[in-house]
Amino acid sequence: MVPLSLIEKLQNVKHLVVLTGAGVSAESGVPTFRDALTGLWANYNAERLASETGFLADPALVWGWYEWRRRRVLHAQPNLAHTTIAQLAIQVPELTLITQNVDDLHERAGSKDVIHLHGSLHQPRCFICETAYVIPEETVQDIQLNQESSIEPPRCSLCGEPVRPGVVWFGEQLPAKAWQLAQRASQYCDLLMIIGTSGLVWPAANLPYLANQAGIPIVQINPEKSSFNSIASYNLCGKAGELLPQLYTAAFTPVG
Ligand code: NAD
Ligand code: ZN
Repeated sequence: MVPLSLIEKLQNVKHLVVLTGAGVSAESGVPTFRDALTGLWANYNAERLASETGFLADPALVWGWYEWRRRRVLHAQPNLAHTTIAQLAIQVPELTLITQNVDDLHERAGSKDVIHLHGSLHQPRCFICETAYVIPEETVQDIQLNQESSIEPPRCSLCGEPVRPGVVWFGEQLPAKAWQLAQRASQYCDLLMIIGTSGLVWPAANLPYLANQAGIPIVQINPEKSSFNSIASYNLCGKAGELLPQLYTAAFTPVG
């Protein structure tokens, strides 16, 4: 049951901020960070796969792991949570979508101007000169990878140095513009929705606290408890692909 006061808030919202994490893509078959702990993250320490030092030590291991993840995402489809968020943007006067995800499922569901705090699997760049690199389509076809496939990274066409994944690694700053926009939106919206994030990764996890300090109501959708339960005015316990459409229908579908 969706609380009536939440339905009313959604119907009257002027600026809605939606903050998503790996949980929003879970129903598309993309493993969350925690799910992935049973995989390669469990066998190799995270710094080895997701840091500059790790990349310099073994570029083929790191590139191969991200290629495996990127190809999984290419084969995944947006789910009802992604599409409902895109529909919400049409219903409310202003919606800012902030994601910690490095997949492109929000965009493929129709969301525009998505703020990616942690970069993207689909936008690699030169490790040295930062020139964008476009991965040729044919490399995507039919090459069976597993998460331990070592693949030499491609070379930058300008300077010849290795290309790196376009994601934010441990020890790196968030993209400045994205972070600035995200902080501002979280402080000046009138409702913040947190979907599928554990709140363990900082500084992204600070955004709900900024909203809370500004007195902005927070609604959380997550099948499990997260660190945000204590500051959320509404904790909707369940899967995003089920609860978001229910919330949307309750708020925006005319009765009768
Ligand atoms: P996390 O894995 O730490 O937490 C995922 C959260 O989603 C958990 O709280 C879990 O209970 C919840 N969840 C699981 N299934 C759900 C569902 N069906 N509906 C709603 N919630 C659900 O993820 P995080 O907080 O985003 O932090 C992990 C970091 O790893 C992020 O920086 C992110 O960039 C990265 N990551 C990204 C992807 C992706 O792009 N799809 C996948 C894995 C990890
Ligand atoms: Zn270069």
